[in-house]
Amino acid sequence: MNPGLTHPPKIHNFNAGPSILPASVFAEASAAILNFNNSGLSILEIGHRTPEFTSVMEEARSLVKEIMELDNDHEVLFLHGGATTQFMQVPMNLLDAKETAAYTDTGVWGTKAIREAKLFGKVDVVCTSKDKNYNYIPKDFAVPNDAKYLHITTNNTIYGTQWQSIPHTSNILVADMSSDIFSRPLNFNEFGLIYAGAQKNLGPAGTTLVIINKNITGKIKRNIPPIMDYQNHIRENSMLNTPPVFAVFVCMLTLRWLKKEGGIPEMEKRNLAKAELLYNEIDRNPLFTGTAATEDRSRMNASFVMQHPEMEKSFLSFASERGIYGIKGHRSVGGFRASMYNALPMQSVETLVQCMQAFENEVRNK
Ligand SMILES: *Cc1c(COP(=O)(O)O)cnc(C)c1O
Repeated sequence: MNPGLTHPPKIHNFNAGPSILPASVFAEASAAILNFNNSGLSILEIGHRTPEFTSVMEEARSLVKEIMELDNDHEVLFLHGGATTQFMQVPMNLLDAKETAAYTDTGVWGTKAIREAKLFGKVDVVCTSKDKNYNYIPKDFAVPNDAKYLHITTNNTIYGTQWQSIPHTSNILVADMSSDIFSRPLNFNEFGLIYAGAQKNLGPAGTTLVIINKNITGKIKRNIPPIMDYQNHIRENSMLNTPPVFAVFVCMLTLRWLKKEGGIPEMEKRNLAKAELLYNEIDRNPLFTGTAATEDRSRMNASFVMQHPEMEKSFLSFASERGIYGIKGHRSVGGFRASMYNALPMQSVETLVQCMQAFENEVRNK
């Protein structure tokens, strides 16, 4: 027998997104493509208004509510269009042309959100870390009281920075949580609106989770195209048009897994342990340097470069020979980025750390 089949080479997937999901979710999702709930039908061919699918949508929405401990003012939607569509849909729904919204500029995604908000109203960029290629989170800044809302990107996927504490504000708080949702406990009810593309820490690409306090909708004068109006999606229980059926189904499977594993507190425990192991090695190993300010380091995405950039190519192939996949850094930072989402096992981080140590020994013995 081919030993490759009995012991398949394990791939350690550090992709930034789309990214790793629990192995059990892949297995259940595959089975449902062939035969969904013993119906003899594929999940891909059932109608979205059938009881079979509406129960999937309802379970997904109620698991989000339960896992995040949301109150009854907060509604859960699974929409189309990625986080990028939310860059526009948020100001379209919340910001009148004469009003001002406050935005924090902590990276590429925040910058894009700012650009889109300017199409709908006034934007006050209350802080930026652009001066240091976004390698830190700004600390001292003021938000005008009359700003309609404050927008933050809780985790900056590209630069590997993360807000360690959420700014307290009297304004409505809006957050792009695409790359750290479900990774740490927060008081989610403090937020007026949270959005996250599913493909980082929740499910496959193709759906966007939107959590919205229904009391902040319907307050502006603009005419909103019906498909863009949050109120319509709330009223139709996230079924205004055909939802991304399969993507929502896989999110539901991941949410079931998350709950079974112990919910957000357990995820945080694992994520802290993984991040600590990797950052300790980055700090200890003389060949590597972290790029983000230590106090702002992300638990989800660790960015690091090599002391001798000419070695980066050979480290990358050294790592890929050991089954390490997806660690090439984003072009705007260079070097490496290891994404450690909820589903990434500790064993993968251990393998990466051992690989960094083995590379150090090899360089030393040359
Ligand atoms: C990936 C990402 C986005 C873009 O998401 P899309 O679903 O591709 O539109 C936006 N914000 C953050 C923080 C991200 O990590």
